[in-house]
Amino acid sequence: MKRTTGKDRSITSTWRPATQAIRAGTWRSEQNETSEALFLTSGYSYESAEIAEARFRGEDAGMTYSRLQNPTVAMLEERIALLDGAEACRVQASGMAAMTAALLCQLSAGDHVVAGRAAFGSCRWLVDQLLPRFGVTSTTIDARDNAQWEAAIRPNTKVFFFETPANPTMDIVDLAFVCGLAKKHGITSVVDNAFCTAALQRPIEFGADVVAYSATKLMDGQGRVLAGAVVGTADFINNVLLPFQRNTGPNLSPFNAWVVLKGMETLDLRARRQSENALAVGHFLEGRVPRISHPGLPSHPQHNLAMQQMDACGPIFSFEVEDRKQAFILLDALKLIDISNNIGDARSLMCHNASTTHYSVSAEARAEMGVSEGMLRINVGLEDPHDVIADLDQALTKAGL
Ligand SMILES: *Cc1c(COP(=O)(O)O)cnc(C)c1O
Repeated sequence: MKRTTGKDRSITSTWRPATQAIRAGTWRSEQNETSEALFLTSGYSYESAEIAEARFRGEDAGMTYSRLQNPTVAMLEERIALLDGAEACRVQASGMAAMTAALLCQLSAGDHVVAGRAAFGSCRWLVDQLLPRFGVTSTTIDARDNAQWEAAIRPNTKVFFFETPANPTMDIVDLAFVCGLAKKHGITSVVDNAFCTAALQRPIEFGADVVAYSATKLMDGQGRVLAGAVVGTADFINNVLLPFQRNTGPNLSPFNAWVVLKGMETLDLRARRQSENALAVGHFLEGRVPRISHPGLPSHPQHNLAMQQMDACGPIFSFEVEDRKQAFILLDALKLIDISNNIGDARSLMCHNASTTHYSVSAEARAEMGVSEGMLRINVGLEDPHDVIADLDQALTKAGL
């Protein structure tokens, strides 16, 4: 492997994001390939026993085993870290592997977590079901309310964990306030940035300590692979996350890393165009449906805060119809938009959260976090928005709206 300029931080960190997204992190083999090489290998061989020994001692820079290092995976990690403005990144097999690693690597029995109550179903499961089994207690709060963060802090609070915008209610968390509060109390803030990615929102700029991703969503962007990522300081990644990851093995396959690397090349373009399309669809729906929660529309109660933190509104938003029955009629009438619980895809997708993504969350918790029986979440893709709007128009008519 050759160190191209793409691997040299003193050069890549001066590049603008659109350049980094295409070139940062690139290593080249002796073939000088332009597109990143895919290293589908679990192991590496050594020229001598002495070199093997030196490598395990950390005295030789080469790789030893793909649970510990892989060139294709390393290229993706360097690219994500740079785009996030972070010192380091490690990728995992899925978004949930990333969230689990980001939490478990730093928590111990006796610790306390404060978490936003509006969250992806499996993120709630981690906090509500998994952590208590290991003696970690938690308080879930309305993360939109700064005072609730402050009030929930205990002497043993170790982590703040939240999404902004939250899935699927589109609650916005005040990043600068909450991350600043965490710093003041020696608490680590862990932000799930799946809805935006660094193309639209960079929590590190607002003081976040750790940012975790489902790279399955906008980073791949074409609905192909599961992937996750955690970024943070070199100290956190190398000394806290890495020992956990190397010994428990939630690694991303080099193949999936390569697919996401290709996705990163078009991330900025897709995120911006899908945001524009989602805004057009939002304008169409406003007034036509009883309630819409869209960070790009002034009707969102936190629209101003959202636009201070995000470069654009993102492809995802939610809206509400009367009840589950009407939501199902609407979904079943769609001809172009797929009924799918995935998001971040170049295709427009829609789902009923209470019966799918938040099925595992109790009805009480759903009501508390604002996931109503009539809530629908849409991911607006790269299709011509006029076609997406026409499809929604005919389906809304069939549903009596
Ligand atoms: C999808 C999602 C996850 C989980 O990611 P996977 O890649 O499906 O494991 C976590 N958080 C949020 C906000 C998500 O949207």
